[in-house]
Amino acid sequence: MKIERLEAICLEIPFKTNFKHASADRAKTASVWIEACSNHGALIGYGEGCPREYVTGENMKSAFDWINRYKSTIVNDITNLESLKAWVVKQEQVIDKDPAAWCAIELALLDLLGKSEGLSLESLLSLPPTPPVLKYSAVLGDNDLAVFSKQVSNYVSVGFRDFKIKLSGDLERDLKKIECLLGTGEPVRIRGDANNLWRNPLDVINYIDQLGQPFWAIEEPLVSRDFSGLSKVAYRTGIKIILDESFTCAQDIHDIKDMANHFVLNFRVSKLGGLIRSIALLKIARSFGLPLIIGAHVGETSVLSRAGITLASAAGDATVAREGAFGTHLLEHDVCEPPVMFGNGGMLRPEEWHFQNAAGNGLEIRTE
Ligand SMILES: [Mg+2]
Repeated sequence: MKIERLEAICLEIPFKTNFKHASADRAKTASVWIEACSNHGALIGYGEGCPREYVTGENMKSAFDWINRYKSTIVNDITNLESLKAWVVKQEQVIDKDPAAWCAIELALLDLLGKSEGLSLESLLSLPPTPPVLKYSAVLGDNDLAVFSKQVSNYVSVGFRDFKIKLSGDLERDLKKIECLLGTGEPVRIRGDANNLWRNPLDVINYIDQLGQPFWAIEEPLVSRDFSGLSKVAYRTGIKIILDESFTCAQDIHDIKDMANHFVLNFRVSKLGGLIRSIALLKIARSFGLPLIIGAHVGETSVLSRAGITLASAAGDATVAREGAFGTHLLEHDVCEPPVMFGNGGMLRPEEWHFQNAAGNGLEIRTE
């Protein structure tokens, strides 16, 4: 396969409602969108990446600079799956600098390779078929209480019981949200995401105590990669710590392997630099018995949700929760019809999209 054209654009799709947390407040997508063509334009592969300054130090400009710098090497070097995998290994440190930029390109090339060989993403990557059912968590941003409680009752009424909430660090505000979730009359399971709010483990321990210990896990309560502080929080509170901003590469897993019982890893295909790297990290995580969450960046379109399903095929029973697949629950419109999105109770049945019988990612991308 010869890549004839590799084009990057900035994809901006408005949200139906703002999504806010301790590190960002978003009203639209901020994704790098890639189109890769071969066969005189007859085949087009599509990819997406979400550069996030507070996760990998990337932004839209650095992602586009990265793409412009490496585009011609990529086009010349990559002709099949083997050369794609070899590029990922050989250019590991280059990809480490802008994993979301590479993710967008890799997903487009995997889609293109699948289309040119008539294989689904799972078949191309020699993975098990897509699972029959995937269940996603409801993720609630740091909205004001009226919006928050309306979202909670909507989610509960359509069968959601698994929630992730963004913490604000304002005790009164967070307490009211916990009360709202616990007051639904349904047995809800809650995890909190602090997006690196605190510096001192004792402050986190006290805060969780003041909230009444409502969580089974807390995500990123301290500054990124304070693994000993995080371990202390897990030990003292008895709850798991989810690593998100603190987990972007294999070194992070090696740094926590001796305290693996305290941690859960949040796998987001974009921040980890695409599917091939995510699958390799999955093997390392599983070898240390680490549970994982298949996560998502806010505003991902169906292309990254589809990649998350491929990762779910590889992850199997090591997954303790899933995030993403919001589609037009969040976006004004998605990049394909029908969007890859969960239904009532967070349920998504991949067979409804016929991914296994399709070539590439199996999405009918709207070209406008
Ligand atoms: Mg997070």
